[in-house]
Amino acid sequence: MVVTRFAPSPTGYLHIGGLRTALFSYLWAKKNNGKFVLRIEDTDKARNSEEATQAILQAFEWLGLKHDGEIEYQSKRDDIYAKYIKQLLDEDKAYKCYMSREELDALREEQMANKQRTKYDGRYRDFDGVAPEGVEPVIRIKAPLKGEIIVRDGVKGDISFQAEDILDDFVIARADGSPTYNFVVAVDDALMGINEVIRGDDHLSNTPKQIVVYDALGFEIPKFYHVPMIHNSEGKKLSKRDGATDVMEYKNMGYTPEALLNFLVRLGWSHGDQEIFSMDEMIHLFNPEDINKSASIYNTEKLEWLSSHYIKNTSNTDLADMLTDYELILTSHDKKEILLDALKERAKTLKDLADMAKEILSTPENYDEKAAKKAFKGDAITILNTFGAKLSKAENPHMPTDYHHLMEEVVNEMEIGFGKIGQPLRVALLGKMGGPGLDVVMSVIGKTETMLRIANAITANTNND
Ligand code: GLU
Repeated sequence: MVVTRFAPSPTGYLHIGGLRTALFSYLWAKKNNGKFVLRIEDTDKARNSEEATQAILQAFEWLGLKHDGEIEYQSKRDDIYAKYIKQLLDEDKAYKCYMSREELDALREEQMANKQRTKYDGRYRDFDGVAPEGVEPVIRIKAPLKGEIIVRDGVKGDISFQAEDILDDFVIARADGSPTYNFVVAVDDALMGINEVIRGDDHLSNTPKQIVVYDALGFEIPKFYHVPMIHNSEGKKLSKRDGATDVMEYKNMGYTPEALLNFLVRLGWSHGDQEIFSMDEMIHLFNPEDINKSASIYNTEKLEWLSSHYIKNTSNTDLADMLTDYELILTSHDKKEILLDALKERAKTLKDLADMAKEILSTPENYDEKAAKKAFKGDAITILNTFGAKLSKAENPHMPTDYHHLMEEVVNEMEIGFGKIGQPLRVALLGKMGGPGLDVVMSVIGKTETMLRIANAITANTNND
């Protein structure tokens, strides 16, 4: 069975890069009817926060990425780590190192002066003397110091590391007893049965160390997929401005989970030239072997394009539900279908959609100056008056066509072009130019509100004259 995991350190919010590897791991587990484990790597008490953990869980919930089983917290697994550290000490595969900070600094300086790689020199590796007083030892693992370590990577192929160039007897437990990252990751991945590790390639340099831990404990080494980074359009690391922000910000900006996940799956992975993927298709088609070897480029226009695609293809009932998150309550509005049909083609995000709808639903408080000047000139007020009078006599105008007929009648009776009534009516109803068809607007806001907006415009312009 394929078991993957996402293992965030709760030092900050979940960002786009993290979410993408989470998605890849999720898809691969689902495709194989396997398991997707969520493990919170919260051993670094100084840098972790409960708030960040909650933010990560909230993002998972919003996106509908469901992990299997209980969430694992490293902070609750101290006894397990202690047990394996003891095992390594007992088997002489790890040892206590009493080197003081000063000694370590001196060693480092000397190595730098000699232009050597800075590394621990193994001075306590075979130590059987009397431990120096006043130094709490760290625990170091006996790493192979010669030979080759091969990382079998499903994205990058086999990568060979020379032990001499990259390893030393690295610390697996600090002086206070707390285990270090490379140790706990390997222990957890092994004990949790994780056999396919998909993670960012910023972790590639840790992998040989984790392999040392696997080997020392006799654990089976998982298959790794190190995913290249996401870059901005200038080919640089993503900054906050380009999207390296809290995933929940995407919700605030009005993106739907579908759009965001579809956007992410295409960052570094493709299936022919297909751009639109439902969750089922992603699960069906995704394979980490097809992850690109080079960095992917974050492209905001692509995200907006996907977002508008999903909005257009979402039912109005679902959209109305989703819009409640953007302070727009349309769920029981009797014209929500008409309103959303008219607007959804043009909205890039749910927030856009909510803003456009709110503009239509609220009585304008003032008029765009330029638009008003152009619209309310000549006989515009007379035309508005004529239309208002006709509307007041109309019995239950309801659908856009009802309003359209009323406008037609005025146009015919007054022998004017449609533009003559369209412009002043638009500014009266919406406060500015632009927006959907007026028949739609009037149908949505209803007869009383339409009359009110027309009356307001007439009053405003009569007073101005
Ligand atoms: N906790 C690590 C991080 O958030 C990830 C560990 C891993 O994926 O192996 O960077």
